[in-house]
Amino acid sequence: MKVAVFSTKYYEREFLNNYNKDNKHQLTFFEMALNTQTVHLATDFDAVSIQLNDKVDAAVIAQLSKSKIRLIDLRSAGYDNVDVKAALKNKITIMRVPAYSPEAIAEHAVALILTLDRKTHKAYNRVRENNFSLQNLMGFNLNGKTIGVVGTGKIGAVFCNIMLGFGCKIVAFDLIESKVLIRKGVRYMAFDKLLETSDIISIHCPLTPKTRHLLDKKAFAKMKPGVMLINTSRGALIKTSDAITALKKGILGYMGIDVYEGEQKIFFKDLSAAVIKDDLIERLMSFNNVIITPHQAFFTQEALNEIARITIGNFTDFENGVHSENEVK
Ligand code: NAD
Repeated sequence: MKVAVFSTKYYEREFLNNYNKDNKHQLTFFEMALNTQTVHLATDFDAVSIQLNDKVDAAVIAQLSKSKIRLIDLRSAGYDNVDVKAALKNKITIMRVPAYSPEAIAEHAVALILTLDRKTHKAYNRVRENNFSLQNLMGFNLNGKTIGVVGTGKIGAVFCNIMLGFGCKIVAFDLIESKVLIRKGVRYMAFDKLLETSDIISIHCPLTPKTRHLLDKKAFAKMKPGVMLINTSRGALIKTSDAITALKKGILGYMGIDVYEGEQKIFFKDLSAAVIKDDLIERLMSFNNVIITPHQAFFTQEALNEIARITIGNFTDFENGVHSENEVK
């Protein structure tokens, strides 16, 4: 099958080529994202393969349909950047990688918590300048703290297990409760109650029209003052302008995010010589109790390997007409 693989970086090509050693599929790599400006590149292919920051809206899908594209393949779990209805209406199949390494994302969420708490990023810079003072480096024990987990699917469940290991109390909110987690001591409760109860809140639910701006000023008003908020899921789950107000008021005592609602124009690019025009992210970066990482939670060897293996498998299944659970209906 001829596949136009958009948004590929050098590190990902290596993993994909490794699983396509027999050249069963003809992969053409494009570094740019798929959107209205680049969709013409998909002419003469059978399929497009995309990442999170490709924007496959109805206009792009109309063009893909004209170009006889039959498959939109996502090298990610989330598919909120694809107009699913428009694709299915045009008889284009959508496939994804539903799970590749939930541990990678859960462990990154924990890395953000520990960094914000114990301020290792500040200590690292300070010590390199021969400053060995402890001023402003005091943290708190995680043991005994209440962690609120929003979304206890694959990633949320791994995150709960890790935090249970720290001796934390876990409260959770999900539309579906996990009996396995309840047996381990996780206590499900209403979303508002979770906001009131938690010392740290970590978001692991998908972005949907219902969860968009789930964390807004109304939600922040219910939180314990000084709470830590972690988001490794999708940027638009948090209304950034309201988070900035909550940080200024001290309602949010710490915020660690691997995703940002305006990330499409910024993340995965080296903008070190450019002027950032996004005032919200600039304001966020000015807080000394905010850590932003550039959507790297998935970025482990194990995760990239799994993404490549499942992606090449998706191409083969589609080509052979094999029914796959990875299809988005
Ligand atoms: P999953 O489908 O296994 O779990 C999602 C859970 O959220 C489910 O249990 C579901 O019932 C729950 N949920 C759905 N709507 C909800 C709502 N309104 N309120 C509360 N819970 C709700 O998905 P997963 O593999 O655990 O991934 C979770 C999210 O993590 C993905 O949607 C994606 O956005 C994000 N993600 C981020 C990265 C990264 O690199 N930062 C990588 C992979 C996935």
